[in-house]
Amino acid sequence: MEDNNPDKRGFAPRDAQWRKDLRDAMPARERTAIPRVEMPHLAPDYRVTNFEEVNCGLLPEQAVVEATRCLDCPEPSCVTGCPVSINIPGFIKNIERGNITEAAEVLRHTSALPAVCGRVCPQEKQCESKCIYNRMKKPPVAIGYLERYAADTAAQTDTKLGERPASNGIKIAVCGSGPAGLSFAGEMAAKGFEVTVFEALHAIGGVLKYGIPEFRLPNSVVDREIKSLRDLGVEFVVDTVIGKTLTRDDLLARGYKGIFIASGAGLPRFMGIPGENLIGVMSSNEYLTRINLMGAGRPGYDTPVFKSRHAAIIGGGNTAMDSARTARRMGAEKVYIVYRRSETEMPARVEEVIHAKEEGIEFLTLHNPVEYLADDNGRVRAMRLQRMELGEPDSSGRRSPIAVEGDITEVDVDMVVVSVGVSPNPLVPDSLPQLEMSPRHTIVVNDATLQSSIEGLYAGGDIVRGGATVILAMGDGRKAAQAMAAALA
Ligand code: FAD
Ligand code: SF4
Repeated sequence: MEDNNPDKRGFAPRDAQWRKDLRDAMPARERTAIPRVEMPHLAPDYRVTNFEEVNCGLLPEQAVVEATRCLDCPEPSCVTGCPVSINIPGFIKNIERGNITEAAEVLRHTSALPAVCGRVCPQEKQCESKCIYNRMKKPPVAIGYLERYAADTAAQTDTKLGERPASNGIKIAVCGSGPAGLSFAGEMAAKGFEVTVFEALHAIGGVLKYGIPEFRLPNSVVDREIKSLRDLGVEFVVDTVIGKTLTRDDLLARGYKGIFIASGAGLPRFMGIPGENLIGVMSSNEYLTRINLMGAGRPGYDTPVFKSRHAAIIGGGNTAMDSARTARRMGAEKVYIVYRRSETEMPARVEEVIHAKEEGIEFLTLHNPVEYLADDNGRVRAMRLQRMELGEPDSSGRRSPIAVEGDITEVDVDMVVVSVGVSPNPLVPDSLPQLEMSPRHTIVVNDATLQSSIEGLYAGGDIVRGGATVILAMGDGRKAAQAMAAALA
């Protein structure tokens, strides 16, 4: 299988003369004295009035200084924190020497979507948490900011990354165009396979388009990545639901020799408490899709969405933060995050929590909704919140929330967005009764190859993991492509 030593995967080996020269050019103690760069960002008062991207990206001189902080460690611990083992010092040292084209190539070698990952990966829990600077009690190298810088700069200078290879004539179908499907498609197309991605929605990108709002991940960035896949020869067919519009048998009859299922986990979960079916209570999937994908709130679109004054978002993950910050931008005066544990246990990215607070979102941590109350028209008018305290760690390793008996408050709200998790999309599994499924309704796959119980049918991303992350979905796409290509060779 894949070798995780970055030097063995080509590009920018550590013993290259230019890397030795860079290391010799400045001693480690001078590098570690440089303060970590700060990401330029839009002012909170301004950004809550629009959907412009909040983080503005590093300036070239900032990127070079930040790259200079990296010590080019002989055993780069940062790489062990990256789920796809990106050659982190290899791309960062290229930034330091001013070769952005090669920095972007190093990234592309492992990551199909570096401009996306540079923006949305939880680096503080992954690569940056393992950077050697943490051991010195100093802020880690800003790996995510540098990844974004390299990918964006290479794209601006229209650097051509990856030539279209000669076709090997073997047709491959992909179900779903989120990060797992896109990364799989890119890998297979680069190997010469004829890849078609089928997408149920009218837009390509999965959660990157319909879930994550533009103030975090502009659509233009996702479209740029999609264009580079088209340049590699990948074809996209939208408005096609695999399992309904086309079955697996249809795909086989059309000559597809391999199928990769990357249909994600877009089925919202609810809490099953009284009042959840009131008007004005909805899932974050519905709320974000209406706004991000269907244009609600933008001039010229007729998708309806309620303009809330007092909104409550239930949950503490990225989806909850995105919904809360979206509600603020849609004009809500008060937006509450209601979360049953404390802020320490929140799964959302730290940066999103900071940005949400800067934008005036109120955090009602250690609170859990127990009921929503209606007005005379059946519309939600208030929520009843149970106060919680933390007990012993549960199976997730986080301290479990325990209700404080009798401590219930009522808070006026006119909209509730429920963001307490998602389940795998059931359509494909429902159409394949012979497919082995887990009790969590995820597709069971072989860990090494990601092949399912049906030969030639592979799966990856959230449909296998339940709700996970962009980088893990992307890593699955890559792994499945390597296994499928080897099986079809
Ligand atoms: P998806 O991105 O869900 O894509 C699946 C695609 O398959 C969709 O386009 C869907 O329409 C399509 N599809 C489904 N069924 C069919 C069918 N039968 N036929 C054809 N097409 C079908 N992760 C991070 O790492 N960082 C973040 O900051 C972050 N923020 C998030 C914010 C939100 C609001 C959400 C919802 C998720 C967030 N995540 C984040 C999680 C991350 O986006 C997902 O883990 C990732 O997108 C999963 O990728 P995927 O390719 O498996 O599925
Ligand atoms: Fe650079 Fe930190 Fe990785 Fe060392 S651990 S190579 S300093 S990013």
